[in-house]
Amino acid sequence: MERIKVLIIGSGPAGYTAAIYGGRANLSPVLYSGIQPGGQLTTTTIIENFPGFHEGIDANILMQEMKQQAEHFGADVRDGSIVKADLSSRPFKLEDESGNQIEAESLIIATGASAKYLGLADEEKYRGEGVSACATCDGFFYRKRVVAVVGGGDTACEEATYLAGLARKVYMIVRKPYLRAAEIMRKRVEENPNIEILYNTNTLGLFGDNGLEGAHLVRFKGEPNEEKFDIAIDGFFLAIGHKPNTDLFKGQIDLDEQGFILTKPKSTATNIEGVFAAGDVADPTYRQGVIAAATGAMAAIEADRFLR
Ligand code: NDP
Repeated sequence: MERIKVLIIGSGPAGYTAAIYGGRANLSPVLYSGIQPGGQLTTTTIIENFPGFHEGIDANILMQEMKQQAEHFGADVRDGSIVKADLSSRPFKLEDESGNQIEAESLIIATGASAKYLGLADEEKYRGEGVSACATCDGFFYRKRVVAVVGGGDTACEEATYLAGLARKVYMIVRKPYLRAAEIMRKRVEENPNIEILYNTNTLGLFGDNGLEGAHLVRFKGEPNEEKFDIAIDGFFLAIGHKPNTDLFKGQIDLDEQGFILTKPKSTATNIEGVFAAGDVADPTYRQGVIAAATGAMAAIEADRFLR
């Protein structure tokens, strides 16, 4: 049985920043990287909105730098995942995928969220080459081009509006005959001349020999008036929701109705003393690397105060 002062789960900007701060505070943090080392940012290419890099920075290099910075300050960054967690008493009891038992005096959950995809094979084929789940990250590459946004919620409307300011034209592919988004968001997209909403429409596949060139769509799927058609697009943005990675803690920690961890106002503290949550796992709203990093720093500072 290993005893750890601060256990950090997750290796996105939140996890690594918590490890940097925890290391500098002499807490000898241990970080488990999880199934996607570097986190969601590694699914994109160049990051242009992380402060400090005026020409942008390759996402994988940025995350590698964060990892090295954490190790430089003494963090023990490990491959692998935590597969069991018992938060009912302190020290918290956890188990990694190799069966190693860990007792942690404090815990920082930075397991992130995963964008939902439709599940089409073509999404994988064109991932990073036309398919994206983050307009703020990748929209800039589609200036004056034609893109599609899938979804009819607030995120889809927000992303479509953002993209409409950059792209020549934005299609919204909405499976229902209406948008589910708030009135103000709905109005904004309906009144935007750059946005064309395709209601009752589903995506069947994507095509293109040199990167993404278009999408195969179907309107009124399964109805007598079903109609298949194609649109020419350079970018395909998913905005059908995010799933926070909190399955491990369900029933043990307070979550909101979507499964995001609830934290106290202006804090990363959860309802369990000694357990902190940072980054997208507790953020249904912003989902930005810089914000994840900032809350990672908060979590380490709060864990340090707690341990004292
Ligand atoms: P939502 O769950 O609200 O919306 C998801 C959208 O994607 C819906 O239109 C849904 O269609 C569609 N969808 C889901 N699965 C599929 C699928 N397999 N194929 C096609 N379409 C699909 O997610 P959001 O990310 O938009 O929002 C999450 C939460 O965050 C909401 O509570 C939202 O209000 C909030 N939010 C608030 C913002 C703000 O206030 N500024 C900004 C962004 C998010 P259907 O309607 O048919 O289910």
